[in-house]
Amino acid sequence: MLEKEIPQSQTSQNASYTVSKFGGTSVADYQAMLRCAQIIKSNSNNRLVVVSASAGVTNYLVRLSQEAVTLEEQTEIITNIRTIQFNITQHLSAEVESSLNAEINGLLDELSSHTLRQSQQYSVKQGDAILAFGEQFSSRIFAQVLISIGVNSAYFNVQQVMKTNSLYGKAVVDIEQLSAATRKLLAPKLSQQVLVTQGFIGQDGLGETTTLGRGGSDYSAALLAEALGADNLAIWTDVVGIFTTDPRITEQARAIKEISFGEAAEMATFGAKILHPATLIPAMRQNIPVFVGSSKEPEKGGTQIKQSVDSNPTYRSIALRREQTLVTVKSPAMLHASGFLAQVFGILAKHELSVDLITTSEISVALTFDNPSGSTQSLLTSTVVKELEQLCEVSVEHGLSLVAVIGNGLDCAKGIGQSIFQTINDINIRLICHGASANNLCFLVDEQDANHVVEKLHSELFV
Ligand code: ADP
Ligand code: ASP
Ligand code: MG
Repeated sequence: MLEKEIPQSQTSQNASYTVSKFGGTSVADYQAMLRCAQIIKSNSNNRLVVVSASAGVTNYLVRLSQEAVTLEEQTEIITNIRTIQFNITQHLSAEVESSLNAEINGLLDELSSHTLRQSQQYSVKQGDAILAFGEQFSSRIFAQVLISIGVNSAYFNVQQVMKTNSLYGKAVVDIEQLSAATRKLLAPKLSQQVLVTQGFIGQDGLGETTTLGRGGSDYSAALLAEALGADNLAIWTDVVGIFTTDPRITEQARAIKEISFGEAAEMATFGAKILHPATLIPAMRQNIPVFVGSSKEPEKGGTQIKQSVDSNPTYRSIALRREQTLVTVKSPAMLHASGFLAQVFGILAKHELSVDLITTSEISVALTFDNPSGSTQSLLTSTVVKELEQLCEVSVEHGLSLVAVIGNGLDCAKGIGQSIFQTINDINIRLICHGASANNLCFLVDEQDANHVVEKLHSELFV
């Protein structure tokens, strides 16, 4: 499904289109939304806007989507969400404020009924219905903020086009359906109006609400850019582009002007939170350049991500992914036997678990899994472990972080092992993966060492 060619829509034949995505902090409050609205107004190529939920709202919804939340807590959270949204609408004209507030109250009533049911009888399906409310609020409000500064704009319900399977919490988009529906229902409207739609959410074949995973709005925007045949994708966030490492870890991190699709995709995959891991897949398929910049300081420029760039340094960046789980499976049956690994992977595939890193020895295999908190599904359940235990000895370790050094030609550059590991020779390295990719070298360290490792490596490799 994902590999098929996407037919280009009609839109880009006549005009140059940019799909612009604004993250949670960019639509956190009225001032932030206003800045984003000015960005949209400043360039008539900005036709489709994809928004995240206002900062903090999805975290509240994650709590509401969990089991057995008390009625008291439900009420408190819903009040807090109302306050976040009403603090924005109060800056609009009295008429717009009152009609938006009425719509928001209606949605909050729906949210309360879902939440009440969820606390009595939990289901992942209902969890997704709950998680999707944040983007429903912010997209309605942002369309009105655009109108308030004179941009002809309207709300568009992304569920008409973002068709997915029913893997709640991590739904897979059917890009053929997305493409066809976009051509029919979305593209024709863009010549008349700027449309504002929701990131992160979709709809399955049963008409139920689905979500694409935390941080999924970047991916939604990229998929929509692909389906529209857009010329550019702009990801507006709270930092002035992609940095050599997370600027929250070290002040020495610096913004990268240009980076190739391949390198940026490795960064996203290995935890650079700035982009959802799948964001660059649609962009690469259609060769759509991606810009990453700060909606607070748009004048400062940002990072251009494109197919090829002028410089290809050995070291480009360091990414960090926390909350990794390491599973070691051990069995003498592996020795000289065939089919053992197929059985292990068969169990993992059955439970739709994706493995990140793998290393092997004679009779054991170590595998890592991403285990993000806030995930609606517990990834490595005891059922999976029990099934694996039928085959072999299993040990599970938590509290690890994956450090990825990203660059070019890392598989054939001399001395990189020494530069990297000499720098952090005071640290216990739990697992190393090198050689499968020219673009990365990864290893696991204890969670409490992670920031120190990134800081030290960054000052050795980049300063
Ligand atoms: P948004 O809500 O706009 O989607 P996110 O919080 O998801 O924003 O992503 C932006 C954050 O990503 C930044 O504030 C920064 O802390 C973090 N980040 C992690 N790695 C990097 C990196 N290499 N470059 C820039 N930011 C990074
Ligand atoms: N609102 C969702 C989240 O917080 C999606 C996103 O922001 O990209 O994960
Ligand atoms: Mg994000």
